[in-house]
Amino acid sequence: MSNATIARLRGSFAHWCTIALDLFFPPRCVGCRQAGSWLCDSCAQAVEPTSERICERCGRQQAERTACCPRCLHEPDGPIRFARAATQHQGPIRGGIHHLKYGRVTALAPLLARYLVAALERPPWPLLMRYVDGVTPVPLHDLRRRERGYNQAELLAQAFCEQAGLPFQPNWIRRQRMTHSQVGLNAQERKANVADAFRAEPLVQGRTVLLVDDVYTTGATLTACATAAMDAGATAVFALTLSAAQKFDDDPSGVDLDRAFAL
Ligand SMILES: [Zn+2]
Ligand SMILES: [Zn+2]
Repeated sequence: MSNATIARLRGSFAHWCTIALDLFFPPRCVGCRQAGSWLCDSCAQAVEPTSERICERCGRQQAERTACCPRCLHEPDGPIRFARAATQHQGPIRGGIHHLKYGRVTALAPLLARYLVAALERPPWPLLMRYVDGVTPVPLHDLRRRERGYNQAELLAQAFCEQAGLPFQPNWIRRQRMTHSQVGLNAQERKANVADAFRAEPLVQGRTVLLVDDVYTTGATLTACATAAMDAGATAVFALTLSAAQKFDDDPSGVDLDRAFAL
């Protein structure tokens, strides 16, 4: 039996398990565990948008707002023109992403995508969005996607596009080789792990791309995707993630950050 067939069978088995689990274990809020929905009204309202103390270019948290953080200063020609996280990685968002990614609670995607839509109200997104030709998620390798049954970034991006009325382009960027999990790797190792892992369709030539992912960790994966898009002739790449770590620059190695992300 081929790897692809095994992955497909695993994916389909997981799909039926999800349906069975929903029947026997009805939804509980990912924030407070109250029964009735995956995200109750009070937890939904308690979600905190990213603070204003960020680097204006990459969106990473800083001690105070700055036009250019040390990391952006060292990489002035990075392929991502502008990046932002919609919310802080805590509380119901942290729980929600975990359940969406590992708990197969795909019903969370439209609930969480609302925060991506809300982020577009903050300047300069209203101006930038005039130029965006398509929204594309950070892809999973086909084999991993079949195994999990879905790509959480794709579900988020799709729900985001449906809610905001944006053009969804799920195939503009593809993962052309499998990569190891980024968990436990420092920033340099993450960068090496995803180098050349992505390829963009020729269709992106002359287009402005908005990349969507669930969590901004070191930005290595997003940067690799953006590099692929720019190599294929994209005009510009912006990035929007659902959340990001709170105190990124306290931990330049990224190692403790992973521990903070271990759920
Ligand atoms: Zn709740
Ligand atoms: Zn920066």
